[in-house]
Amino acid sequence: MPETASRLKHFSESVIREMTRVADKYNAINLSQGFPDFDPPAALVKAAQKALEDGFHQYAVTWGAPRFRQALARKQQHWMGLDLDPDTHIVVTCGGTEAMMTAMMTVCNPGDKVIIFSPFYENYGADTILSGAEPLFVPLHPPDFGFDPDELRTAFEKGVKALVLCNPSNPSGKVFTGEEMRIIAALAMEFDAFVITDEVYEHIVYPPHEHIYMASLPGMRERTLSTGSLSKSYSITGWRLGYVIAPENIIREARKVHDFLTVGAAAPLQEAAVTALDFPLSYYKELQAGYIRRRDCFLSYLDQAGLRYTRPQGAYYVLADISDFGFESDDAFCRWMAKEIGVAAVPGSGFFREPVRHLIRFHFAKREETLRAAGERLLTLPEKM
Ligand code: GLN
Repeated sequence: MPETASRLKHFSESVIREMTRVADKYNAINLSQGFPDFDPPAALVKAAQKALEDGFHQYAVTWGAPRFRQALARKQQHWMGLDLDPDTHIVVTCGGTEAMMTAMMTVCNPGDKVIIFSPFYENYGADTILSGAEPLFVPLHPPDFGFDPDELRTAFEKGVKALVLCNPSNPSGKVFTGEEMRIIAALAMEFDAFVITDEVYEHIVYPPHEHIYMASLPGMRERTLSTGSLSKSYSITGWRLGYVIAPENIIREARKVHDFLTVGAAAPLQEAAVTALDFPLSYYKELQAGYIRRRDCFLSYLDQAGLRYTRPQGAYYVLADISDFGFESDDAFCRWMAKEIGVAAVPGSGFFREPVRHLIRFHFAKREETLRAAGERLLTLPEKM
C-alpha cells in the first residue's frame, strides 16, 4: 500500500478539540475549546438574515467582497493607525485559521525556519510543517511568560524567515509590552525576517495593558503580515471570517495562496459582517467590559478553589497550576476533572514545547451563569482529591 504523507507524522490532531469531545462525553461544562456560549449582537444576526434574503448566495470576489474589505479597512485603519487600501492591502479568508496558513505559505519556502514562542496556539506548529518550514521554539517563561532577548537572538541567528506573534496571546493571556515589541521588531529587521501576527484577541485586553500592533512600529509595516478575525470580536466563531493585512507586494502573492486553498469566505456572511465592522467605538468598550466581568468572576473561583494562576492581561484564557494536586500528568488531571468535577480544560502540555506538565488552560468566554456553575464545581476540587 502507498503511505500517507510523512509531514503528517510531525503533528497530531488538535488537543483543544479532543477535550471538547471529552467534555461532551462526560457532560462537563466545556471551558476547553475557546468559543462563547452567548449570542452575537442582535443587529448582526438580523443582517445575516437580510443578506440571505437579498440574494448573496454565490461566490464573492475571491479575496473578499468589496463592501466587506472597505468596512474592514475603515475599522482597522482606526485601530492600527495605518492607511489601508481595501483593494490592495487585504485578503479575506475563512477565519483566522486560514489567514495564518495563507500568511505562512505566502512567505515560507520548504526548509525555512519560523520562530514560534512557546507556549503557543497549536495551529502554528502544524501550519509551519504544512508549509514545508521548520518551527524554532523560543520559550516564554512561566509564570510571567517573559522571553529572554538573548534566547530570541540565538534563534534568529539560526537563519529565520519569519516569527509568529500571537498578541494578545493564547494560551498565556500575555500582552506583549512596548519594550518587548521593540526588541522583536529590531531583531526582525536586523535579521531580515517577516513577522506574522495573530491578533484575533486585539479587542480583548485588560487595562492597564494595551494592545500594540506590530505593523504600526517604525520599519515594520513592510515586513509584517497581520492576521485577524471577526470570530472573537463579534462572538461569531462559526462564521469563519478572517483576514490578512499586509503591503501590496505581499498581498498580491497571498491572494494566490488563498484563491487555491479556499476560493473565498462565505459571501452572505461577509455582507452581513459589514454591520459589525461599522459598529461605533462604544461597542468595543462594552465587549471589553464584558470580558473584564467574566475574567473577574472566573478568577475569583480559582482563588477560592486554591488554584494558582497567571493573571491574564488579554484574550480569554487562564493557565492554572495543578502541581499541588499530585497527578502524574496534566492530561490525566484534565480527564479526571471532566469526569469527576464536570469541568473541561485543556492540558497545558499541548501548548508547550518544553516539558511543562503542571499547567492547564481554562477559557472564560462564557455567560457569567456558566462560569459560576463551573466555578461552584471547581470549589469541590479539594474535597474530591
Ligand atoms: N482559538 C480557540 C481555542 O484556542 C478555538 C480553537 C479551535 O478549535 N479553532 O480554544
